[in-house]
Amino acid sequence: MRLSKYFLPTIKENPKEAEIVSHRLMLRAGMIRQASAGIYTWLPMGFKVLKKIEEIVRDEQVRAGAIEVLMPTIQSADLWKQSGRYEDYGKEMLRITDRHDREMLYGPTNEELITDTFKNGIQSYRDLPRNLFHIQWKFRDEIRPRFGIMRGREFLMKDAYSFDLTAEEGRKSYNKMFVSYLRTFERLGLKAIPMAADTGPIGGDLSHEFIILADTGESEVYCHRDLVDFDVPDETLDYDSDLTPIIAKWTAPYAATDEQHDPDRFAREVDEKDRLHARGIEVGHIFFFGSKYSKPLNLTVQDSGGNQVAIESGSYGVGVSRLAGAIIEASHDDNGIIWPKSVSPFDVGLMNLKAGDETTDTACADLYQKLQAAGVDVLYDDTDDRAGAKFSKMDLIGLPWQLIAGPRGLAENEVEIKCRATGERETVSPDDAVNKLKNEFC
Ligand code: ATP
Ligand code: MG
Repeated sequence: MRLSKYFLPTIKENPKEAEIVSHRLMLRAGMIRQASAGIYTWLPMGFKVLKKIEEIVRDEQVRAGAIEVLMPTIQSADLWKQSGRYEDYGKEMLRITDRHDREMLYGPTNEELITDTFKNGIQSYRDLPRNLFHIQWKFRDEIRPRFGIMRGREFLMKDAYSFDLTAEEGRKSYNKMFVSYLRTFERLGLKAIPMAADTGPIGGDLSHEFIILADTGESEVYCHRDLVDFDVPDETLDYDSDLTPIIAKWTAPYAATDEQHDPDRFAREVDEKDRLHARGIEVGHIFFFGSKYSKPLNLTVQDSGGNQVAIESGSYGVGVSRLAGAIIEASHDDNGIIWPKSVSPFDVGLMNLKAGDETTDTACADLYQKLQAAGVDVLYDDTDDRAGAKFSKMDLIGLPWQLIAGPRGLAENEVEIKCRATGERETVSPDDAVNKLKNEFC
């Protein structure tokens, strides 16, 4: 992409309305723009990041055996009345009346709709287990939308729903999602720590939140220091093997959100030097709630003995849009964002230090063409901005590698490569630069 033809409305000054660094940087880097309170337009570069996050989340869901569907954003109120949550949800639910005076709502989550959908699609216990997920916009009329897309009113969520014949099988489905979350967040360049959590309005008795430690986070957590750093299973993991040993350590009192925190047990069982009390950002939340929705919505199935039994379910959410902010909270410096390779909007930022100069233009066009041909996604700053402005913009938007070409270097057959994360620079020939960057990304 040539910057001269792109839409990247960056901002030099810090926007006053942004309280935390990710919100500031997303606005400054031209990723998002507020449309109304808690509702955002995703500008081209932000949208690219969002799509990349979504794709990694999707890939790991599928790897763990979940099947993708797409449910609507607007739902009828009927099912919610049946489950009893139409009243419970209160003002967070955006209620809508259609032209026929039917009560509708913009879905804040999908337990009811998926339970009803699944009910109409299965015959017997032989159709179990199944896990269905979708990645869809949600609306919650948050009392205090803030921190940009981190606590928006409209936000993108991946939500999966498991269906099993017995609670024991349901527990296995829960474990699969647990492990797939460990892998998902690692691929996004994050350490998201599982914490035993409260089940809140979803209900049920088994739940974990996945938390990224950050002072700006809205959650409060307590955990054993040893649980902050951990190994994550690689892609050869067999999801049908017993996953209990992998996840067994993340239970209360060793890792818990404040609602599940038991101060006495924590003090008794964890040495003072190992106690960590910190703030964090919730990027995922998983629940096992048994038959809480299948019972009121009559989702039953015939077991092998011919009895009708209520299906055992769980639900598994990831804040896809919130992750864009969470990644920035975890990875930035004074100059701007530092994208992990896996979600960076482009792989390389190519800077032409003297646009309009024929030799430099030709050399840059050649670098651009060769990198693109090799499958490296390049943002080419071909504008006639000053060099200084180009450097700060590239640092601000945080692409992992910068490739800098100017007339003086090119006269010696030299260009510069800069790694955004370490700031290290290297002078190489244009051909070597192409090869090196190709190896980084292809
Ligand atoms: P929170 O405690 O932050 O309000 P929640 O418990 O209401 O979250 P869930 O209902 O479990 O959230 O939703 C699943 C995921 O969706 C959360 O883990 C979070 O990452 C994301 N999420 C929830 N509310 C918002 C929001 N208002 N804006 C952006 N992402 C959100
Ligand atoms: Mg909430």
